[in-house]
Amino acid sequence: MEMTELATAVIAGDRRALARAITRVESARADHRTQAVDLVAQARAAGRQALRIGLSGTPGVGKSTFIEAFGMMLVAQGLRVAVLAVDPSSARSGGSILGDKTRMERLSREPAAFIRPSPSQAQMGGVARRTREAVALCEAAGFDVVLVETVGVGQSETVVAEICDLFILLLAPAGGDELQGVKRGIMEMADMILVNKADGDLKPAAMRTRADYAGALHLLRRRPQDPEGFPKAVCVSAVENDGLAEAWADMQSLAGWRRDHGHWHSRRAHQARHWFGEEVRRGLLSVLDREPAKGAMAAFGARVEAGELSPEAAAVQMLALVGRR
Ligand code: GDP
Repeated sequence: MEMTELATAVIAGDRRALARAITRVESARADHRTQAVDLVAQARAAGRQALRIGLSGTPGVGKSTFIEAFGMMLVAQGLRVAVLAVDPSSARSGGSILGDKTRMERLSREPAAFIRPSPSQAQMGGVARRTREAVALCEAAGFDVVLVETVGVGQSETVVAEICDLFILLLAPAGGDELQGVKRGIMEMADMILVNKADGDLKPAAMRTRADYAGALHLLRRRPQDPEGFPKAVCVSAVENDGLAEAWADMQSLAGWRRDHGHWHSRRAHQARHWFGEEVRRGLLSVLDREPAKGAMAAFGARVEAGELSPEAAAVQMLALVGRR
């Protein structure tokens, strides 16, 4: 199928076409890359925008339970919901988040929902690019909300926050020293903290955890892109469907405020600029993996190892070589 044809099918809302298009952007093949760039450009030209929500949390906090309940609620409101995963650990474990068929079983059967597991690292031309392009394809396919799920292990949150309009941190109730477990940088990125499992015996602990984080968020800052009351920490129970409607109302009001005050547009513009820089940096690095730079790297490396050249002098010569190309 030609890319134009595929793009047209994606824009028409054909889910199988969307799945195929995402497979194409995940491909590491050079000819596929050119096609993917075309495809995404055509998709973006449809001019549709979804609310992109990044959701991060360590394994076991209830991400899939939450996304299923939250997604079902949105679908019941007539919204179309796409779920994508960024799983930095899939390369190591061989598995992937969302890969488990039992996850989000109800949501995956909904015609208005689209769930895409994270690919294995081997298929990927970079986590960030793949996710960013997949988000663009889901937007073009007419999804109203795109949820990007990630396991909280550090770097992936930064990637997700640079892709999404809102960044949500999901936590579970815990003892007093838990606060230290969340890195400051991640707290600074969070627009909302949802303390999940606020039900049954866990409810008092959830309320304490919420209060701790609300205090920490308050101390951290109020950023120019935040209205009064944000960032905020609230309790939810994915299992009991408790607090989900309120959390959604908060997300909408935050997104609406940012739209009205120009922050939505400037955030996306800033993100586009960021990814442009990243793509160029990535491209420059990849030059080193191709001839003639690859051979020169090996040759200089051997001379450094043999003690004929200092590492610094060899680097200067190598960079001069690359810079001339
Ligand atoms: P994930 O690894 O973050 O995707 O977490 P899961 O959604 O797989 O949930 C991990 C465990 O927490 C499961 O046993 C869920 O049943 C449980 N869980 C998830 N949400 C809630 C909740 O709102 N309340 C309670 N009590 N348990 C929950």
